[in-house]
Order: sequence, then C-alpha cells, then structure tokens
Amino acid sequence: MTPKQLAELRTLVETASVLCDDESLEKYSHDFTEDLRFAPAVAVLARTTEEVAAVLRFATREKIPVTPRGAGTGLSGAALPVHGGIVLSLEKMSRILEIDENNLMAVVEPGVITEVLQNAVAEKNLFYPPDPASRGSCMLGGNLAHCSGGPRAVKYGLTKDYVYGVEAVLPTGELIKHGGKLLKNSTGYNLSQLLIGSEGTLAVITKIYLKLIPMPTHRALVLAPFDTLNKPAAAVAALFQAGLTPSACEFMEGSAVDAGCRQTSQTNPFPQATAMLLIEVDGFNQVEIDRQLETLATVLERFGAADMALAESPERQAQLWRLRRSLGEAVKSRAIYKEEDTVVPRYELPTLLKCVKEICAEYGVASVCYGHAGDGNLHGNLLKENLSDQAWNDELPKCITRIFEVTRDLGGTVSGEHGVGFVQRRYLPIVYGEAEIALMRRLKTAFDPAGILNPSKMLPDPK
Ligand SMILES: Cc1cc2nc3c(=O)[nH]c(=O)nc-3n(C[C@H](O)[C@H](O)[C@H](O)COP(=O)(O)OP(=O)(O)OC[C@H]3O[C@@H](n4cnc5c(N)ncnc54)[C@H](O)[C@@H]3O)c2cc1C
Repeated sequence: MTPKQLAELRTLVETASVLCDDESLEKYSHDFTEDLRFAPAVAVLARTTEEVAAVLRFATREKIPVTPRGAGTGLSGAALPVHGGIVLSLEKMSRILEIDENNLMAVVEPGVITEVLQNAVAEKNLFYPPDPASRGSCMLGGNLAHCSGGPRAVKYGLTKDYVYGVEAVLPTGELIKHGGKLLKNSTGYNLSQLLIGSEGTLAVITKIYLKLIPMPTHRALVLAPFDTLNKPAAAVAALFQAGLTPSACEFMEGSAVDAGCRQTSQTNPFPQATAMLLIEVDGFNQVEIDRQLETLATVLERFGAADMALAESPERQAQLWRLRRSLGEAVKSRAIYKEEDTVVPRYELPTLLKCVKEICAEYGVASVCYGHAGDGNLHGNLLKENLSDQAWNDELPKCITRIFEVTRDLGGTVSGEHGVGFVQRRYLPIVYGEAEIALMRRLKTAFDPAGILNPSKMLPDPK
C-alpha cells in the first residue's frame, strides 16, 4: 500500500484504529493454523458498519486485498492476510444489541465473543448452544464465517441452525440485509445461509440475528474408558440407535487425554485406557436424566466400558470440559502438526478411524485423534515427531490426500467445522467436481467483482 493510499484510508474511518506499526501487525499476521505467518500492510479496527463500508469501497477501487478477521482462532488459515493488504478486524464491533426474551432472539455485532453471549443469555435462563472449544475467545462473526460447531452440535446443531438474519457489507461497499427475528422466511434466495461458511470471501457480516432456546436445567456427564479404538467409535452409533440423543458425545484417544491432563494439571482417571468417550446428557428434570443415564450405561457396557465415571457436581463437570477443551493445544504443543477435520456419516466413524491409523502408519506419520464423535467428526492430528523435514514435506500431502479420498468414499467430506481456508483449498477437488467449483467461482465473482475480499481462500487456484 502506498503512503498516499494509507493517508486516504485514515481519512475514511473516523473512529477506527488504523494500525501499521510492526508490533501491532504481528498480531494480525497469524491465526491458530500451524506456524503460518503473513504480515498485512495495515490493520483497521472498524467500529461501525459505515466504516466497514468505507474501507471496502476504497479497497475495491484501489484493488487492495482485504482480510476480514474476528479473534484469529481459526484452524484453516482463513483469516491469514496471504496477499498483505488490509486486515479488517471486527473485534471492536462487540456489542450485544438486544436479547429479546419475547421472541427468543439475540441481535449482536460480529465481534461479540461466543461465551460472552452465552453467559449473557444464561442470566435470563436462555441458551445459545453452538460452543466451539475456543468459545472463550472466538467471535460470532468468525463462527458464522466457518459455520462453527462444537461438542453440543450433536443435539443442538451448528451455528447455521441459529442464524435467522444478517446484515453484511459487500466488497463494493453496499449494505445488504436478509431475514431478522423471523422463524420462517421463504422470500427469495437465503442470503443469510449463503454467507454462513463463506469464510469472509463474499461479504463482511456486521449484524447477526440469533435464535435462543430455553436453558436445560439438569445435566450429567460421563467419562467412559475403552481398551480399543474401535469399541468407543462403534458404541457411538449404537447410542443413537438405542434412542438416546446426548447433548455431547466426544471421542478422545488415550494419548490425547494424557496430553490434556498435563496441560490442565489433572490426573488421568483412566491411565490404561486406549480411548474414552465423554458423554453429556441434559434435560429439564432428574427423571429425564436418569432415564438417559440408564440407556447410556446399558449400551456402553455392551461395548466393554464397564468402568464409567459419572461427574455429578458442576465443578467436576467443568473440570472434565476443561480437559476436553484443552486437547487441541495440548496435542499440538507436542510436535509440528497438521490438524484435519474430516466428517463422515456417524456409523462410518470406526472405519474412518481405522483407515486414518493405517494410512498414517504407512507414511510413517504419528497421529492422535479426538473429535465430535456424535457428529462423525474426527480431528486427526498428524504429528511430525521424528520424521525428517524432507519426509514430512514430501509424504504429508500424499498421506492427507489418501485420508481425504477414504473420507469421501465413506460419504464424508474434508471439513466438518474448521473450514477450507488457505490450507485445505488444494484438496477441494477431492470432494467437489468441476461443475460445483465453477459455480462457486461465479458466486464469488458476483459478490466480489474486483476479487479483493479474502483472496486465495476456500477455492483452489484456477488451473
Ligand atoms: C483451541 C481451539 C479449539 C477450537 N475448537 C473448535 C470447535 O470445537 N469447533 C469449531 O467449529 N471450531 C473450533 N475452533 C476453530 C475456531 O475457533 C473457529 O473456526 C471460530 O469460529 C473462529 O472464530 P474467530 O473469531 O477466531 O474467526 P477468525 O479466525 O478471525 O476468522 C475465521 C474466518 O471468518 C472470517 N470472518 C471473521 N469475522 C468475519 C465477519 N464479521 N464477516 C465475514 N467474515 C468474517 C475470516 O475472514 C476467516 O475467514 C477451535 C480453535 C481453537 C484454537
């Protein structure tokens, strides 16, 4: 960006911070994806929709790339400014505009931290269920842009299931509005849902209408150990077949639990276990909880988990959730890594897990798996450990390609919730044909004719 452009940019945004010192830009040059770093020329911390529009209009005219950003907790590199230019941070647009108890809706700005909204609505006995493990820091705009999930998606659904309206700014600076506090809307294309999962490539979201539901009053959490990887994975589908819909159903390999325990200074309750399931049930009375726990115990025993631990107190439940939420960082602190986010139909999870282990062994890559088993969503962390740099660089893409092909053949896809972003886009043709990718390119051009908004994300480079 030229000094003249920077000077003009400063005149366009009245209340925004415009940062271009090295220390500030360092923060906006990475997210949580591996050790990737790309420095922007400038970071603009917008405070109003008008400022977002002014920045985008200017960037389209000057053909400067713009990367929208929430908290930068993404795991697919979608918020990395890979072409420099402007990082447009929404972190200062962080107001909860309304919690409407009559309509069970919240209206928020995109920079609200997910847990802040959850706590605010909980005070009114309401529940906003989408809960990425990063909920203490990630922001709702980022959640929409990736259609984020989390442990409770298995019962309550993903971010997309709670979004009933958005306001957003197109790269040309035009404001678009769709939906609102409406539970039904059959009027034209569903632009809100089109923006969900679009990874900041189509428009910048500036206001969000979210559905709320009553907060369940009772919960129980069970940790169940298994002596093989296959048994817990197979038990998951059996739980649903038995009529149970847990509010969370998480798979954790034993070595992931070990790492999480070290990270959170806890003692592993089942140090001999090869894998564990962390299962939560919820409801509105104790009878409902007891009935679910009974079904749970019957099914898990059939799969060899006789020795279950029931976490009854809220303190013990919080401790186990802290352990579960720590797994990502704990595993990654062990070695250079690559995290995958494959998802298959739930019943295929044991096959996927077996294939991931076999393929990794074939390429000499260590792997540690955990994930949202109830959704068939497996986070496979591939670790470099003792591999040479050359073996890691040469073999890893082949190993990942094989895993993704198996995932596709099982009826699955390459990302359940982390998105395609920058690091997965080369693999998109494994799951989409030319027609789908060409249509996505046309959609991108319709929204962003100058191609300035989050370029080189999601879609592979044209051949
Ligand atoms: C420890 C850890 C645990 C995690 N656990 C989970 C999990 O359980 N489930 C899950 O789904 N994810 C999880 N994630 C991934 C990540 O937290 C989510 O993808 C989250 O939604 C990203 O939000 P963010 O505010 O950090 O977005 P960012 O990383 O800043 O941005 C992500 C994408 O959103 C776009 N974007 C941000 N704001 C806007 C906006 N207002 N308008 C348009 N585009 C925008 C960016 O351009 C980018 O494409 C985890 C991450 C970490 C580090």
